[in-house]
Amino acid sequence: MDGEFCVVCGRTGRELTDGLCAECAADRTTLVTAPERAVVVVCPSCGARQVGGVWEREGSSPLLTAEDLAPFLRVHPEAGVRRVRWEETSASGTVRELSGSVDVVFRGVPRTVPVRLSVRTEHRACPECSRKSGRYYTAVLQLRGDQEKPAEKSRPLHARLETAWRELLAESRAEWRKSVSWQEELPEGYDVFFTQTLAARAVAKVAKTKFGASVKESATLFGRKDGQDVYRVTLCLRFPRSAATIGGPDGRVEQ
Ligand SMILES: [Zn+2]
Ligand SMILES: [Zn+2]
Repeated sequence: MDGEFCVVCGRTGRELTDGLCAECAADRTTLVTAPERAVVVVCPSCGARQVGGVWEREGSSPLLTAEDLAPFLRVHPEAGVRRVRWEETSASGTVRELSGSVDVVFRGVPRTVPVRLSVRTEHRACPECSRKSGRYYTAVLQLRGDQEKPAEKSRPLHARLETAWRELLAESRAEWRKSVSWQEELPEGYDVFFTQTLAARAVAKVAKTKFGASVKESATLFGRKDGQDVYRVTLCLRFPRSAATIGGPDGRVEQ
């Protein structure tokens, strides 16, 4: 490589790859990236994480750790990660904005790469905990606020959703109400678990027609029973903020 020089910096006596010294190549290569949004699924009972279709790390802290974040980093195949530091820049509800600083070595050259990551924590009972608790359900109604800006404060949001839920139950048939197994409070609203999917759908329909809520249905594969795939249905109900005028804070309908 006598007399060969880096086509960018012109320095000689350095090992070159495709005409570039390692330093110049490092400066021109995307060494680490992170997706803009990431979701970490945590079982609130045992701390297990859902990674792909598998639940792992049972017994770990339900709080986000670097171990949760590392898998989201996309690292160039020639770069080796030495250290990652994360700093939370803001948090609202279950979403955390993080800025990370990743120390890597690329072809012998150390670099520190800044990344940004927005992580949402989703709480979901792992199959093991669902089984142990004996809590059986086939559908879950997610009661949520709208997605308008600015984001709603937790307390008024919960008060409003509670009122909407009470009114919604009052509008529902007794047989639908009987299908409600239990409910959980979350930072972003409430989850109501149903033992009958048809009842959950019927209640969602009332929410849509009488309360102006939007309804989004999705199904997740829960497991297999008797050689059949078993699905659970999630109905996400978003109640527009203006619907708060339907009932006052004490749940009474204002005239
Ligand atoms: Zn160079
Ligand atoms: Zn669990």
